[in-house]
Amino acid sequence: MNQSLLELKEISQSYESGGRLFTAIQALDLCVTEDNFISIVGPTGCGKSTLLRIITGLQKPSTGQVLYRGRALTGVNPHATLVFQTFALFPWLTLQQNVEVALEARGVPTLTREKRAIELLDRVGLDGFENAYPREISGGMRQKVGFARAMAVEPELLCLDEPFSALDVLSAELLRGDLLELWLGGQIPTKAILMVSHNIEEATLMSDRIVVMQKDPGRIVADLQIDLPHPRSAKDPKFIELVDRTYATLAGQTAPEHVEVGKPLGEPGPTRTLPDVTTNKLVSLMEHLAAIPGERTDLYRLAPELKLNSDYLLRLTEAAEMLRFAEVSHGDIFLTSLGETLAEASILARKEIFASRLRRLPLFKWLLERLHITEGHRIDREVVEAALEEKSHPMEVERQIETAINWGRYAELFVYDDNTKTFYIEPSEDRADEGLME
Ligand code: ADP
Ligand code: MG
Repeated sequence: MNQSLLELKEISQSYESGGRLFTAIQALDLCVTEDNFISIVGPTGCGKSTLLRIITGLQKPSTGQVLYRGRALTGVNPHATLVFQTFALFPWLTLQQNVEVALEARGVPTLTREKRAIELLDRVGLDGFENAYPREISGGMRQKVGFARAMAVEPELLCLDEPFSALDVLSAELLRGDLLELWLGGQIPTKAILMVSHNIEEATLMSDRIVVMQKDPGRIVADLQIDLPHPRSAKDPKFIELVDRTYATLAGQTAPEHVEVGKPLGEPGPTRTLPDVTTNKLVSLMEHLAAIPGERTDLYRLAPELKLNSDYLLRLTEAAEMLRFAEVSHGDIFLTSLGETLAEASILARKEIFASRLRRLPLFKWLLERLHITEGHRIDREVVEAALEEKSHPMEVERQIETAINWGRYAELFVYDDNTKTFYIEPSEDRADEGLME
């Protein structure tokens, strides 16, 4: 058992807003040991940033205790550094000077400072840019300077608040690789990392624990172990399973869906008809709901707002429920945490969320299994039609297939070739270094 570094005991945080007190975090316990790389995920407003501020001592919780190496924390924790989404660099200083500032604050002598700053910039891949000014470099490079500065502090506990979310896909990927290398290679004295992330793939790729939070009030609902060896591949079935499990937890499910997953098509058992809607419209609905203030929305309002007929709207809400993006009750609709995550996510992350849900539906499960075992990984549309016709009316079958094609294409689960009328996948294609979903 590794040594405990940080312990949170029954941490609560209330804030006053509009004259009333509300609980942002309630009775939260967390134990961080040496060698932990923990990712914290959860919907916006569940208290992730608040938690990092409490951990680093920038904020005192309303109640509860923060122990660092067994001792109660009073004031800012000198052993912890918090890195924000966007680093504030001093615009009038060169990159090297920006790093030196951090060293100076630690009392490193001038001569050593210079050498160390150059080393650090080199390590994050900014060799040759020592004398550049922040305005001369890209956002990704600025973020790297921020990392170099955090490394200069050599914190025992490194806290990162969505460090990659403001970057373009490529810079984010490179920087993730850099951080992992530093961490796994033991090149930094950092004993533990706590990273807030909006990106489940990122969390699964990098960390060894994922703490899932929910809101109202902010609390931890799951603490998942990621015991995969590095380097990890996003196409490893075990990896996909772990990603899926995290999404399921965000969707409010703690137990796997036994009923839906197990029943192959063409066998007796529940098969769910896919509501005939497009992923485009479904995503629009999610975005629309996320933009409306308040938790619940009257369903009747939505049809005119979205310029849809009510029939289509009902199918949309059914699809949203089926995929656990939303729940409907008493004529109201509201987003689940997963739905909120989807609404906020980038295009690639959305596809990944869709994929993780579709794999649970019988039709997709059956289709993907068949594609994997069939020679050439191709299946004629007719085969799918025949399987579906055992259960439904031919007219309905056509609609089902069109919907499955639309959803599956969007989620990039398979390809459908309209000329040859075949479904196929390319399992040999190496998607490992295609990178993470942004
Ligand atoms: P997250 O980082 O998970 O999105 P935050 O920690 O930023 O969540 O916020 C949690 C909740 O507390 C939100 O509802 C937010 O509006 C509220 N909150 C955060 N900081 C303050 C503050 N200083 N004063 C009042 N409310 C706050
Ligand atoms: Mg935040």
